[in-house]
Amino acid sequence: MQLRLKTELTFEGYANGQGWERATLPTCPFHPEGGCGFAGHGTYMRKVPGVAFVARWYCPVARTTVGLLPDFYASRMPGTLDALEETVARVEEAATIERAAAEIRPADVPDAVTLPSALRWVQLRMHLVRVALIAALGLFPDRFAPGTPSITHFRERLGTTRVLVALREIAEAHLHALPRPLGLVPRPQHVWMRSRAHQQSPGSDGDLPPA
Ligand SMILES: [Zn+2]
Repeated sequence: MQLRLKTELTFEGYANGQGWERATLPTCPFHPEGGCGFAGHGTYMRKVPGVAFVARWYCPVARTTVGLLPDFYASRMPGTLDALEETVARVEEAATIERAAAEIRPADVPDAVTLPSALRWVQLRMHLVRVALIAALGLFPDRFAPGTPSITHFRERLGTTRVLVALREIAEAHLHALPRPLGLVPRPQHVWMRSRAHQQSPGSDGDLPPA
């Protein structure tokens, strides 16, 4: 599973400062009372936009690794939230998505070298960001409605050009229910079901998720 590493750093600051070495997770998220043998489990590598690492822990009871994903990283896809946001912002400013795709076309991304592939690359990112912004509009209507699920609208409301990073904080309580790249990987179901089983009271079977 993934948890937030709360940080205002950009990728560059984190990579240059080797931020993964300072990441700490004092208690197991599954067993805050301790006693489960929760311990550091090295790091894993991310390659985009440059090589950097994410600190990782392991709970032997839950048999689950826990990564501390810094706020600037997109979850479950390469790259940063900042880069995603910039792509979408440029499309919103462009006359057409085709023109934006031709301009943005990331030459270092193997699956976006031709114009049609660049278009698909941009459209996927547009879709993922739109889903995140629609969720934010629904979750926080007092803050963001009325308005469109656009980066332009959210930048105006929040007064920042780091909307997606800000939403990691604002939507923190919902991150395990939101899809990538804003949301974090849901808690593994077997762990969730086991913890439910411990707390279970008669008649609560209907709350269990489908197998
Ligand atoms: Zn544990």
